[in-house]
Amino acid sequence: MTNHNILIVHAHPADFACDAAATMALHAERGDRVTSLVVSHGERHHMQWLHDQKLMPTHKQDSDLSKLNLTNYREFKKRETERIAEVLGISELIMLGWIDGQIYFEQEKIEQVSEVIRKVKPDIFITRLPNVLSESTHDDHPETARIALKGLRHAQDRVMEFDGVESYRGVKQVFHSLAGGEEVNNNGMLLPGITPDVWIDTSSVIEKKVHAIDQLVSQGYHGQTARRIVEARDGRWGMIAGSAYAEPFIRPYGLIYDSLPLTPRALNDVYQPTHKDFVDTPVNEIPSATPEVAYKLLP
Ligand SMILES: [Zn+2]
Repeated sequence: MTNHNILIVHAHPADFACDAAATMALHAERGDRVTSLVVSHGERHHMQWLHDQKLMPTHKQDSDLSKLNLTNYREFKKRETERIAEVLGISELIMLGWIDGQIYFEQEKIEQVSEVIRKVKPDIFITRLPNVLSESTHDDHPETARIALKGLRHAQDRVMEFDGVESYRGVKQVFHSLAGGEEVNNNGMLLPGITPDVWIDTSSVIEKKVHAIDQLVSQGYHGQTARRIVEARDGRWGMIAGSAYAEPFIRPYGLIYDSLPLTPRALNDVYQPTHKDFVDTPVNEIPSATPEVAYKLLP
C-alpha cells in the first residue's frame, strides 16, 4: 500500500471538524501523513459560547469572562482546533491567523499558502469548492478555496533563478470537500447541479468525527449538536453513497484510466433486496468527548 501525503485547507476550525474530517481520520489510521492548514481562528461568527455566557446569571458565568479580549478568544479557538487535530490523528496543524470574515483574494495570502505547499509537498491537495459564491453560510469558504488553488499554481510557477525558491509540482490529485450539503442533493451523474464523484465510507471512524465536533464548545457544536450534525449530514450522505456514513468529494478534472475502472468495493458487492447499512453504535449513542477545559475561556 502506498502512503499518501495529504494537505487539506480550511477557512475555519469548525470546517476542519466537519468537512472531510472522517476521511482525514481514515487516512491517518492507514499511516498517511495529513497536514491541516486552517487559515483563520473563526473568531467572529457562531459565537454561541459567548452568547450563552451573557444570558447567564453572573454567578454561573465563566469567572474569566470579564478578561475576554480578541487575543485570548483566539487562543480559546486555537486550543479547540488543536484538540480536533488530536482526535483526528492529524500529523501537523498549521494556522495562519487570517482575520475571520476578512478573507480576500490577496497576493500575500496566496504566497503564504504557496509556501506551505512547497514545505509540505503533498501528493493529495484538498480544499472547498471555489465557485459556490452564493453560499449563505460564509463567503470565507469559497474565497479560501480560490486562494488555496491560486497558491497551488503559485507553488508550481516558482523559478529558482527568479525567485530563489524551488517550484513544487508534485500534487497528483485535487479534491474539493463539501459543506453541509447545500451544494449536493443527488448522486446522479446525469442530473444537473453539483454532483460529488467520490464518496468515502466513513462508518468505521464516525466516532472520531463526532468527538472532533465535540471540541467546538465556542460554537455550541458539542453534545447533541455534534450528533445531530453527523446523523443528519453524514448519515444522509451515507444513504446517497450506500454506506452508514459517508463524505463526498468532487474532482476538478476528469480522470484518465488505462482501462474501464472497477473499484474493489464494487467487485465485492453482494446483492441485497433492501440495502441496509448500520453501525454498532449509532451516532446519538456515542458518549461525549468534550473535556472540562473546553468550557473555560482561559486554560
Ligand atoms: Zn467555516
